Amino acid sequence: MADAPKMNSVGRPTAPAIDVETTSFKSLLGGRGLLQDEKLIFEWDDYSRTGVDFADIAIDASDLDGLIRDDLSLPGLTEPEAVRHYVRLSQKNHAIDLALYPLGSCTMKHNPRLNEKMARLPGLGDIHPLQPVSTVQGALRLMDSLAHWLKTLTGMPAVALTPKAGANGELCGLLAIKAAHEAKGQGHRRTVLVPSSAHGTNPATAAFVGYTVREIAQTADGRVDLEDLKSKIDDGIAAIMLTNPNTCGLFERDIIAIADAIHAAGAYFYCDGANFNAIVGRVRPGDLGVDAMHINLHKTFSTPHGGGGPGAGPVVLSEALAPYAPRPWVVAGESGLVLEEHGEDASQANFGRMCAFHGQMGMYIRALTYMLSHGSDGLRQVAEDAVLNANYIKASLSDVMSVPFPEGPCMHEALFDDRWLENTGVTTLDFAKAMIDEGFHPMTMYFPLVVHGAMLIEPTETESKAELDRFVAVLKALAEAALKGDVNRFKGAPYLAPAKRLDETRAARQPRLTYG
Ligand SMILES: *Cc1c(COP(=O)(O)O)cnc(C)c1O
Repeated sequence: MADAPKMNSVGRPTAPAIDVETTSFKSLLGGRGLLQDEKLIFEWDDYSRTGVDFADIAIDASDLDGLIRDDLSLPGLTEPEAVRHYVRLSQKNHAIDLALYPLGSCTMKHNPRLNEKMARLPGLGDIHPLQPVSTVQGALRLMDSLAHWLKTLTGMPAVALTPKAGANGELCGLLAIKAAHEAKGQGHRRTVLVPSSAHGTNPATAAFVGYTVREIAQTADGRVDLEDLKSKIDDGIAAIMLTNPNTCGLFERDIIAIADAIHAAGAYFYCDGANFNAIVGRVRPGDLGVDAMHINLHKTFSTPHGGGGPGAGPVVLSEALAPYAPRPWVVAGESGLVLEEHGEDASQANFGRMCAFHGQMGMYIRALTYMLSHGSDGLRQVAEDAVLNANYIKASLSDVMSVPFPEGPCMHEALFDDRWLENTGVTTLDFAKAMIDEGFHPMTMYFPLVVHGAMLIEPTETESKAELDRFVAVLKALAEAALKGDVNRFKGAPYLAPAKRLDETRAARQPRLTYG
């Protein structure tokens, strides 16, 4: 009798295995499964066609002062060709709509469709910043409500809505801190303290503002070394930039003592709020002594992380920094709400503004929708479930993968290191690339820098137990393969992705931004 077929992790007979060492299959013209390969849209060479019929119009070229252009070199695509092109492009990359997206620190959570529906409501989706203010009262009310809930959730008295991302929020916070010091005649303060586990944007922002960065050491249990911090405080300190929970996925237990020490030295406490998802609804940063904190709406409040934008990183500010908040803000005027752009209030010593107009309206709508649809109990549950899911991953994988800070539970992300891969010939990078062949996006790799070969997994609260179990099963199977010496599976990975191992540094430093 034939053996019963072997079942895979979803209970189906396993497909004939691809032998990654010997397979010689190559598609003839670059297709991959049901996905065709094709040229970039600017490389299509038929500019004579168009998918739209335009009526012939008589143009008097003299009206255009010689600026008439008749060859726009736009690709001539029919509607189905245009649609297919973009659908194919979308399938070359991973998306939260395809599967769990475990990028630690990035909080890649589901983007609820309700948010999208609200952002497209007529009257919100089609307004313009230069419209008369009497016609956008609802939009201003929405901004005011978002500001209210951000202040309430963080326990802070003021918020600047305009920053366009977390890093831009850091810039806003440090510019407010600098303005505050200068207003007090403390402009000589030139140093910003940053823990060794910090996200790269923290020291980069401090340097961009003109500060000198001084690193604070970490304890063996993955937290800020309070003694080292205290030894580095002097009257040249302008601020500390601290992430809580930190990038090792751990709550900084000494946070109040840190805030007190910083304030006693006349400096300010900037909190990197990228990990707010772990504590939203449970902890108010204002109660911890924070003076400024950005909130990545695309992390905690579920707005999309879209190809670098549009993002939104509002910054909440303490009483001490509120007068330095950048304009504009919403205020009640005589005939309704107005966006205060210029004001002559002498108590305001703000440093200017972060952008033209009022910031990313579409993201404000989505974030407020998310808050209101969850309610205060729902937001608290977001934090609780995010932490529960991360601990489930940590507990499920810690028998095969090594954990640098095993003591106690983690917060919203589970951190592993590469000690368990020692002598296998497989690196963190190889392991992450092999995940792609199994249908999962890699976790964050080699960050935080303080942990060797770091693998930082953040499942978020939006994953079900079934999806977490599938993810754990795949990582366990890969871990076993690595420990068994199946090195080729890893070294050549990803075998099945449209792009293999890219020279990421070169791509970032020498991007090719033109075609043809
Ligand atoms: C994401 C992140 C940032 C930067 O935020 P952006 O919105 O990507 O600019 C800063 N710090 C930490 C810890 C982060 O995770």
